[in-house]
Parts: sequence; C-alpha cells; structure tokens
Amino acid sequence: MDNQVSLNQKPKIFEKDAHIAVIGAGIAGGCLVRALMRRSINVTLIDSAQAPGSGASGNPVALLAPKLPRTQSPIGRLMTSAYLHAVQFYDALEGEGACVWSGPRGAFAMARNPDESERQQRASAAFNLPKDVIRLVDQAEATALSGVEVPKGGLWFERAGALCPPAITAALTSDVTYSQGNAAKFQEVKDGINIIDGDGASLGDFDGVVVAAGVGIMDLMPDQVWPLRANRGQLAYLPTLNPSPRVPVTYGGYISPLVDLGDGQQGHVLGATYARRDEMPDAEWAAIRAADNTDMIENLQAHLPVLSPDVPMGGRTSLRATIRDYIPLAGKVADNLYVLGGLGSRGFLTAPILAELIAGQMTGGPLPLDDDIINALDPARFRK
Ligand SMILES: Cc1cc2nc3c(=O)[nH]c(=O)nc-3n(C[C@H](O)[C@H](O)[C@H](O)COP(=O)(O)OP(=O)(O)OC[C@H]3O[C@@H](n4cnc5c(N)ncnc54)[C@H](O)[C@@H]3O)c2cc1C
Repeated sequence: MDNQVSLNQKPKIFEKDAHIAVIGAGIAGGCLVRALMRRSINVTLIDSAQAPGSGASGNPVALLAPKLPRTQSPIGRLMTSAYLHAVQFYDALEGEGACVWSGPRGAFAMARNPDESERQQRASAAFNLPKDVIRLVDQAEATALSGVEVPKGGLWFERAGALCPPAITAALTSDVTYSQGNAAKFQEVKDGINIIDGDGASLGDFDGVVVAAGVGIMDLMPDQVWPLRANRGQLAYLPTLNPSPRVPVTYGGYISPLVDLGDGQQGHVLGATYARRDEMPDAEWAAIRAADNTDMIENLQAHLPVLSPDVPMGGRTSLRATIRDYIPLAGKVADNLYVLGGLGSRGFLTAPILAELIAGQMTGGPLPLDDDIINALDPARFRK
C-alpha cells in the first residue's frame, strides 16, 4: 500500500535496540538522530543528498532568537520553552567540541515601530523571564551591545547568537548510519515499514520511521491534509562591514556578525527574502536574484543607516516548509510513523525540543512540553 500505514493498531512503544529510519538530514533529522540514539535506539538516517545539511539547514548562519507574542498562548509558551531548551542543547554540543556559535553571544531585536515596541513590552511582561534571558534595552544600550549604532531600542537576548549550521548538522549526524536514497513511498510489512525509493528499490525495513524531510514531506506524504507550502528564501553574503555588528541584529530582516561562509571566506550574512516557491518556474527558484539583493540592502539601510554595504559577494537560496497556522508538525501519524516538519523560519529554535518530544512519545518516556502544546503540535489537528 502507498504511504498508508494502519491507524488502528494499539499504541506502539519502541524498545531499546529498535531500528528507526529518520528521513531527512537537516536540523530536524539531526536532532532526532541525537534524541533517539541517546535512548539506545538504532537509527539509519536517509537523505537524497550525499551529505547532511543540503536543504534549508545548510545556510552559513542561523539566528536563535524567538519572536514572542503579547500573551502566554500555547505557541508563545512553545517558543519560550524551545528557546531555553535550544540554548542548553547547543551549549552542550559545543561542550562536546563542535564549533556551534559564530562570534560573541547575544542578539538584538530592534523594535521598528510603536506597534512592535508595544508587542515587545507586553511579551516581556507576560513571559517574565529572567533578565539574563530576555530584557528590554533602550537605544543607547542596544548600540553598545550590538557594536553598531542602532536607531531604536528593543529586546536583548543575552544567550542567543549566530549559530553555525554546517558544524551543527555534521556533529549531530557524525555517529549515525547514513544512507543516501530518495524515499518515495512506504509499505507496511510485518511489525514495521519498508521504505521504497523512486525506482521501486527497497531502502530497508524498519520498526518505525520519522519523516523530517523539510519541503520533501509534501511529495512523500501526499495523502496528508497538512497545509504546507514551500517558501523560497534568499541570503546575501556581504564583505566585511565597517562598523561591524558584533552580534546578530534583526529589524524585520537581519544582519549577522562576521561569520565563516565556507571555502575560507568570511563575511556578513544578510537575510532574508520570502516568496512562494509555486509562483516561480522550476528552473529559476535556486538562482540568486539581483532584485532580491537590492531589496535586502535597501531594507538594511532603511533600518541601520550607519551600515553601508558593498556589493554582495555571494549568497544562497533554499526552501522553508511553512504551515498555515505557523505551528510545526510534531508527533505521531500512525503507530510506526511520525513526522517533524513545517518548521518555517525557526527550525534551529524548535527542532531540539520537538525531537525530544517525538523521541519521548516513541519510547514512552517523559515529554518536555505541556499537553495543550503537544495537542497544538499534533499532526492530526487538521483532520479534527
Ligand atoms: C533564507 C532562510 C533563512 C533562515 N534563517 C533561519 C534562522 O536564522 N534561524 C532559524 O532557526 N531558522 C532559519 N531558517 C529556517 C530553517 O532553515 C528551517 O526551519 C530548517 O532548516 C528546516 O529544517 P528541516 O530539517 O526541517 O529541513 P531541511 O534542512 O530542508 O532538511 C530536509 C532534508 O530532507 C531531505 N529530503 C527531502 N525529501 C526527501 C526524500 N523524499 N528522501 C530523502 N531525503 C529527502 C533533503 O535533502 C534535506 O536534506 C531559514 C530558512 C531560510 C530559507
């Protein structure tokens, strides 16, 4: 049967030494590998690319700073828990020797207008987090902390920073069995699932499968009713700025501190564009668009006029999987089939805690989130 796994079995708990396939080697798959292997589960990581981190998770930088809503909604509590968990997770990874953070810690989210300023003030009162986690700063303090003159105050995230995705996905997947293959469909077999590639060849039998395939989820699980979309994002790489931000600064767009761009190059990453992938011809979406670079540079100069960037020296495009309600898909689809996807613009923030959630659900262990948040994340919510 094609991508149909029985929904009527009793809940299955995966015991130690079960064999699970994780499909997709981005930040979601990498975090799942880590969470499952820590529970003594055998994992095979399957990806159509030769090496991990070839999709959206392959950007040279990722910011870790949540956008908090005005009130303690489930999504706001998810973002707060995800943030606190992610900081510990990446610090622990760095403690193991991986080069996780680029440059000094901290990130500044500038309030662009009175509405944003009001949201930040209400969010910081509603969540009431310790000041060394999140605090409001005025323009002068924000300038001192950011290392460049910023025209407005905003929120300071002391423990955030610029993450280095290639080093993170490499570290998370270094001990796992990696299998290059393009998963096309699932077939139920005795006590498990057989994964079949696009040519009809078997990629193996597994006790269970977690799909963490980014935008690939849409093709791989076409029977699901998830309102997912592929959203194209472009980044521009800028030569060294003078003055130069010492930490990431966000203002709708973002500018990173000086980071490693790969191939021995250093520069600043300027982000990011948002465009529907389905409004673009197949042959065009991956190419760098000069008009997008112009928009991003104009946006930077409108908000941080002290910076005068040179012509970009490169860039990268990739596809985010966005979902209509902006809440990731994390949980069980059927007894031996789970999904972690729809991570939108904040996969590096949410993937660590959501992978823990799924690993806990699969093995019957403690769960890191409250029930109302787990229900909000439930992949079955669009059927209700
Ligand atoms: C321009 C841009 C800037 C961003 N900036 C940030 C940021 O600053 N901070 C942040 O937290 N997030 C950021 N994001 C979002 C973040 O990159 C994503 O949320 C995250 O990378 C999603 O991770 P993933 O593992 O779900 O998907 P991906 O990283 O896309 O991984 C999916 C993997 O699945 C594989 N795959 C797909 N289909 C199949 C198949 N059928 N068989 C086998 N393998 C398959 C792909 O090859 C790929 O390796 C940004 C995104 C973009 C586009």
